[in-house]
This record gives sequence, structure tokens and C-alpha cells, in this order.
Amino acid sequence: MPRDFTQGAYAALLDAALDEGYEFLTVRDYLRRTDLPDRFLIVRHDVDRKPGNALSLARIETLRGVETTYYVRTVDSAWDPAIVRRLAELGHEVGYHYEDLDRADGDPRGARESFASNLARVRRLVDVDTVCMHGNPLTSHDNRDLWNTADLDAFGLLGEAYLSMDFTDVTYFSDTGRTWEDGVLKVKDHTMGEGEKRVSATSTWDLIGLLRGGEVDRACLLVHPERWTGSYPEYLSQRTKDLAVNVAKHGIQAVR
Ligand SMILES: [Zn+2]
Repeated sequence: MPRDFTQGAYAALLDAALDEGYEFLTVRDYLRRTDLPDRFLIVRHDVDRKPGNALSLARIETLRGVETTYYVRTVDSAWDPAIVRRLAELGHEVGYHYEDLDRADGDPRGARESFASNLARVRRLVDVDTVCMHGNPLTSHDNRDLWNTADLDAFGLLGEAYLSMDFTDVTYFSDTGRTWEDGVLKVKDHTMGEGEKRVSATSTWDLIGLLRGGEVDRACLLVHPERWTGSYPEYLSQRTKDLAVNVAKHGIQAVR
């Protein structure tokens, strides 16, 4: 079996989906369209780190005519204006990956102000219609709680990637924890009010099997670009990091 969570594995996933007739929708397309295709995939990229990897995945997609959605953080470690612009130029949707409740340490008013100014910062580079929360397993806040005291409409937004999608109709798969399976590794990365999931995949090859077998018609895939490596040394270092984070997350769950 080839190595998983590499850019080659990602390309194989896209090729299988295209081959099986899945249409690719951005989050914006999904929310705007009144008639959804029978079979579609929404690929959501949360660019938590290494924006250069996002650009590599974007090129792999653009070569295949696939459009996806990139959510970018505005913290210094992840913010790269040239790459943000380039992602949009390649035809992808770019949205804001917000963490303003964390930044304001839970203060709703501070979080709203922080959100407004960071959203404006992204909008100076690209059009933003949708946003998506960043889940930090080490903080006690859930950034989505911002919307308890604020309104997406008031910011001219169509939707939020966790809150505005119907997960009874669209099956959610996330690569958090270096597996497509649900479980304790997805500390904050879970949908709300989702339906019973009938299918599951551990490896990308399992996920390809589900698409090939026609077992899922509509799905949203969360793909973190930093995880999908291009070179063997990068693969080894990311795998080591993922496994260490998983051990820490098991610890967090144990004390809750
Ligand atoms: Zn994130």
C-alpha cells in the first residue's frame, strides 16, 4: 500500500471521485445553489499551518478542474497574503478560519471586534462569503459560540462551514488525528446536530473504496494541508507530530 496522507494519496482521492462522477462544490456553491447535484464532494481545507502546503494542494486541484474552499487563519504563523491571493486566483474559494473567541479569552464583545477586524484583513485580499471556526483542543472555548451573540448576516456572510451545512444529508469526514474515522481525536472537530453516520473510513484508501462502491453520495471532507506532505522527510516529520498530538489528546480526554 502506498504511504497515506501524502499529496500523491490526495491526488488519488480526487481522481477516484472524478472518475466516479462526483461534482466538487465549494462551501459558497453549496450554500448558494438551489439545485444540488445528486453526487457531490465539498472539500474544506483548514490552513492551520504551512500555507505553502495549501498552495501545493490547490495546484493539484486546479490541474484537475476541481474547486475547493480554503479557510485561512490570520495568526502570524499561518498568515501569508501572497498565498491567500494565489489560492483565489487558482479558482478556489477562500474564507476566514476564525478563532476570535479564543483570542478574546471568551469575551463576546472583544471576540466580535476581533472577528470584524480579522475578516476585514482577509477581505482586503479576496472576497469572503463563508467562514469556519478553528478548534484549538487546548482552550476551553468553542469559537462557534461567537454566533450566540452575533449574526453572520450582519457581517455579509452566507454561512459558517460547521453550522450552515445539513450534516444529515452530507456525510462529514475529517482527517484530524491522521485518520478519517470519528472518535476521541476530534476534540472540537465535530459537527453539531449531525445524523447517524452509516459509513466510516480509516485510511484514504478506505475512503476511496466508499466512493468507488457508491456508498456515499454527498460528503464534506476536511483536509488539513499541513498533514498532506510532498516529500519523504516531510512525511516522516508530520507523521511523528500527528502521533504525538494524538497521545496528548488521549490525555486531554482522560482528564475530562
Ligand atoms: Zn483549524
